[in-house]
Amino acid sequence: SQIKEAEFVKSSGRAKDCPKDDRPEFAIVGRSNVGKSSLINALVRKKEIALTSKKPGKTQLINHFLVNKSWYIVDLPGYGFAKAPDAARMDWFSFTKGYFLNRETLVGVLLLIDASVPPQKIDLDCANWLGRNNIPMTFVFTKCDKMKVAKGRRPDENIRSFQELIRENYPQHPPWIMTSSVTGLGRDELLLHMSQLRNY
Ligand code: GDP
Repeated sequence: SQIKEAEFVKSSGRAKDCPKDDRPEFAIVGRSNVGKSSLINALVRKKEIALTSKKPGKTQLINHFLVNKSWYIVDLPGYGFAKAPDAARMDWFSFTKGYFLNRETLVGVLLLIDASVPPQKIDLDCANWLGRNNIPMTFVFTKCDKMKVAKGRRPDENIRSFQELIRENYPQHPPWIMTSSVTGLGRDELLLHMSQLRNY
């Protein structure tokens, strides 16, 4: 399940422009600043492959990375950047909807959730939207190494609260993995999980 090579393939402005290909793919989504670029870089062990854009909301692009010439990691725009008006948040859904609903090779969505903060409404909204649309997802909790956290709550407490809020809506709970791009926690588990999903 290890990554031997990874190459950037294409940035697409719309779902329609994504690579025409049969190879399976995983989309990575989450709030701006959740640690998406860091996680992608940690997964592929290449510094700066995920062109870390430091302009939240400006990168409305779907980025395809081909792994081991056999499957894709797809970096989708972040959502819910701090001061965005509700209109901008809605934009994210309308932008990504076309991709989620029409991309036939999409094996699953890795929904990144920052474990160093209590459950955020926008993350719950995103999880619920994906769930309602029957898009398979995995919760990938990021920054699990962080010990200095908001309101004195530890990552495992934030994760438990998030899980409980999701459980109210879904008897079938999505799989979840704890990660840290700093310590490498969860990296192998996540790679193994993705290889299992690809082989179904
Ligand atoms: P993105 O906007 O989702 O792509 O987030 P980045 O990968 O750019 O990370 C946002 C901030 O969180 C940066 O300051 C990172 O150094 C920090 N960060 C990302 N991953 C981790 C992690 O696993 N642990 C800790 N402690 N910080 C992280």
